[in-house]
Amino acid sequence: MTRRAAKPLPLPLLRVRESIIACERCTRLRTYCRGIGETKRRAYQDQTYWARPVPGFGDPHARVLILGLAPGAHGANRTGRPFTGDGSGYFMYPVLHETGFASQPEGASRDDGLRLRNAWIASVVRCAPPGDKPTPQEIRNCSTHLAAEIGQLTRIRVVVCLGKIAFDGYLAHLVAQGIIERKSAYRFAHGVSYTLPNRIHLLCSYHPSLRNTNTGRLDRAMFTRIFVQARELAGLDR
Ligand code: SF4
Repeated sequence: MTRRAAKPLPLPLLRVRESIIACERCTRLRTYCRGIGETKRRAYQDQTYWARPVPGFGDPHARVLILGLAPGAHGANRTGRPFTGDGSGYFMYPVLHETGFASQPEGASRDDGLRLRNAWIASVVRCAPPGDKPTPQEIRNCSTHLAAEIGQLTRIRVVVCLGKIAFDGYLAHLVAQGIIERKSAYRFAHGVSYTLPNRIHLLCSYHPSLRNTNTGRLDRAMFTRIFVQARELAGLDR
């Protein structure tokens, strides 16, 4: 892909984005994110943290939805774009570039020129949670944002869930939408895929957190295979 300016989002998706950014539903998470944005990590003392809910990002015509857990406290909560500026993103974007979903392997800031093609990245919770652990109520609170975003991404054919919390959050969305009856028929395991009653493919992957990538639980070859598989399931050519 050549480097070009990102196109503006279609108006309905822009409205979803604005409503996410303005959300104050979870008092604990909003307080935490603002606090992190004020104290900052020493290496980022000269930066202004985003410190607001982080909306999804990518290609409005995406066929692949990549679903994570939540913004990192000093990653997306700092930069304002999913998986941008932290270890998870530094692991993921080179793989998305290699597999044809990202215009460049670097994802350091939201004005770095990175564009996605055929992919949209979002998370089940849009505010960084303490210890990366949102409460069940916070996940439920945020599910309306996921539903609104998915409602505008009409070409999605594959959903890649990064980690079990994203997987459970997406299953809850499917139950709420009446697409599946119960979650118990679906089990999370890396590399497992399901074809849902609406013919969307659900593909599971370990989350590319440092906890998984530093320990070798998830390596680059394993992660690359997930996105090669996502391309195939989505009917995308290289
Ligand atoms: S986690 Fe979601 S629902 Fe809760 S305040 Fe943030 S954007 Fe709103």
